Amino acid sequence: MNLLEHTQRIEEQLIAWRRDLHQHPELGFEEVRTATLVADTLRSFGIAVQTQVGKTGVIGTLGAGHPVIGIRADMDALPIQEANDVPYASAAPGVMHACGHDAHTAMLLGVARVLSELPDRPPGTVRFLFQPCEEKQDADGLSGASRMISDHALAGVDAVIALHIASEAPTGIVIIDDGPIHAAADAFEAVITGKGGHGAYPHQGLDPIYLLGLVIQAIYGIRSRRIDPTQPAVISIGSIHTGTASNVIPDEVRLNGTIRSLSDDIRAQLHTELEHAFAIVRPLGGDYQLTIQRGYPPLHNDATIAGAIRAASGEIVGAERTIRYGFSMGAEDFAYMTRTVPGAMCFVGAQIGSDMRPHHSPIFNIDENALKIGAAVLAQSAVRLLTQLAGQS
Ligand SMILES: [Zn+2]
Ligand SMILES: [Zn+2]
Repeated sequence: MNLLEHTQRIEEQLIAWRRDLHQHPELGFEEVRTATLVADTLRSFGIAVQTQVGKTGVIGTLGAGHPVIGIRADMDALPIQEANDVPYASAAPGVMHACGHDAHTAMLLGVARVLSELPDRPPGTVRFLFQPCEEKQDADGLSGASRMISDHALAGVDAVIALHIASEAPTGIVIIDDGPIHAAADAFEAVITGKGGHGAYPHQGLDPIYLLGLVIQAIYGIRSRRIDPTQPAVISIGSIHTGTASNVIPDEVRLNGTIRSLSDDIRAQLHTELEHAFAIVRPLGGDYQLTIQRGYPPLHNDATIAGAIRAASGEIVGAERTIRYGFSMGAEDFAYMTRTVPGAMCFVGAQIGSDMRPHHSPIFNIDENALKIGAAVLAQSAVRLLTQLAGQS
């Protein structure tokens, strides 16, 4: 069975859904129109629908009984003004599908249609997880995946899969790796306090800019001197604010940054080492306050499920176009799902010629030929997993 023939047959519809969603982007937890479109479309395929899961999420359930395969697509857009001059450009000022979640939603609708029409679909359940808000966390620090999980979206699920479109990989390439593929992403904010005064008499106060210089050295030394060299980790300072005049020593320095790692152990160590780096201001008479906001955990691909996706992709695009890439230090809230049940995410190339249209940029766009490929890889993987997991309990 090669489901590419099936997704090819609905290619026009896949493109139409994607363009409709692209034109009407909605920010995280505001996906009301998107969720309505998804729910109505699923119902038109005879699929049972549950709405308002994890605030604005939608679940479709096809089939019944064991095994249960979850397929997740995120639906949210970004606060970016689109710069593309295309007929389906965003109609919402300052909001744009600049990460490809419109394509993910369209592809999962395509998967739902193809699987619902498939006469010899193996027994079991396919749960379509249309997730809100991947790109940010709400006031409680929770993103769409966490909200869906709290609403029992993964209850009884044996395996969960997802894909992300990749605008900088050629169309026809599928990337699937085992183990950690995305980083834990935490943010920090800090204040270093000294004692301000006249720039001509630094000895009368305590210059927090001098303290900052020592702290920066200590922070940048963490990765090279304190972390196991074989373990990926990075701390980057993103902003530093202090001072108002050339001859005034300020009272304090404010800074923030990002902390990335691929394992829970290194993540914990980075937090401790960062605290130590700031603490060096205390013996010098200064003080500091450090706040770490925990973000998404590392995304871990289960080797068995990644293997099923790899085999499915081999059937769709060929084994030679199904490749490994390794990990990146980016982050993805699908990580919460793969921490809850075994799962894996693949990446589907969708580059327009040799254009560089980076994710999260105002010129982001994709080659729509990738829609049928991505939908086929997901559908074929789901069928494989239904068969593969049928023998297990
Ligand atoms: Zn994104
Ligand atoms: Zn994304």
